[in-house]
Amino acid sequence: MKITEVKAVDPGAPQLGDRWQNWLGQIAVEVRTDENLTGIGVGAGGPAGVAVVNTVLRHALLGQNTDDTDELWETMNWHTHYFGRKGLAIMAVSGVDLALWDLRAKVKGKSVAQLLGAPPDRTAPVYWTTVADVDNAINGGYCGLKINCNHFDSHKQRREIVEWVAQVRDRIGPDLPLMIDASTNWDLKGTLRIAEDLLPYDLKWIEEPLPIDDLDAYAELTERSPIPIAAGEHEYTARGFAELIDRRAHHILQPDVTWCGGLTQILKIYDLASQAGIRVIQHRGAEVWGLHSVVALDGEPLAETPRPWMTWVLDQPTIENGITRPTATPGFGVRFDPAIWRP
Ligand SMILES: [Mg+2]
Repeated sequence: MKITEVKAVDPGAPQLGDRWQNWLGQIAVEVRTDENLTGIGVGAGGPAGVAVVNTVLRHALLGQNTDDTDELWETMNWHTHYFGRKGLAIMAVSGVDLALWDLRAKVKGKSVAQLLGAPPDRTAPVYWTTVADVDNAINGGYCGLKINCNHFDSHKQRREIVEWVAQVRDRIGPDLPLMIDASTNWDLKGTLRIAEDLLPYDLKWIEEPLPIDDLDAYAELTERSPIPIAAGEHEYTARGFAELIDRRAHHILQPDVTWCGGLTQILKIYDLASQAGIRVIQHRGAEVWGLHSVVALDGEPLAETPRPWMTWVLDQPTIENGITRPTATPGFGVRFDPAIWRP
């Protein structure tokens, strides 16, 4: 089966206002073939990501055979590596790679989860991510709660952080898994002291406390913190994750399949992590693009809530009482709202 068209569009997310996810956010990708089958995937990079797909990647892939996803990934990487070994170009590659996996599963008449060997009807508990809407974790029956604490200064507002976490723990009770996310805004010293202060509140992890590339500090933090350290949503490719793993920079790795290079890279990341005894918990794992590999590859699946602005991906799996599962429809089992292709 040969590739006859590769195209991307930026459906936008105007509800996000001035955030980068609006300017350079998720893009929709379609790969067509000479056997009338079409694969779809989601990548990122906004209009810049769309340009990478519609020019360089399209040029690299037209006429290629669809079978070998590894080889196609290397082809895409070769054509983009001068300007994008990490970041935006890899986000664009991710969308095409996912579309190729969608095709691959459709050819076999299987869901991507089935293709990856997931046990039938495997489900994933879902945790709720929020800045302040704690009650929804309880009312929605979610299996965990992650609160963003990046607006707190890790030195000047230590007391406020502890009070907020204590309040949330009190509100949700002792049993619901609780995590916090500092979105790269703290430093080593502050995070270590906060981790010690927060020990009584039974946190499952502290997410992305330090700047992304501060790997020396991450390695020290991971060694000394009494609470597990998670990060990786802004790392790219298995090669990038191999460095995090070699340096024991985190207890938990959180690749985002629509950013890190697609399913081809996620499979390699799970492999490397499991060899090293490190846990992978995918960023936004309850979104359909991650969910299939979450249920197939994780012995104890845990999936993060989808972002609410991806309304143009239709037929997404539902979350009921905090549990989700991929549908058995071939491929990822979803389709795009046709309106996204209209100028
Ligand atoms: Mg995060």
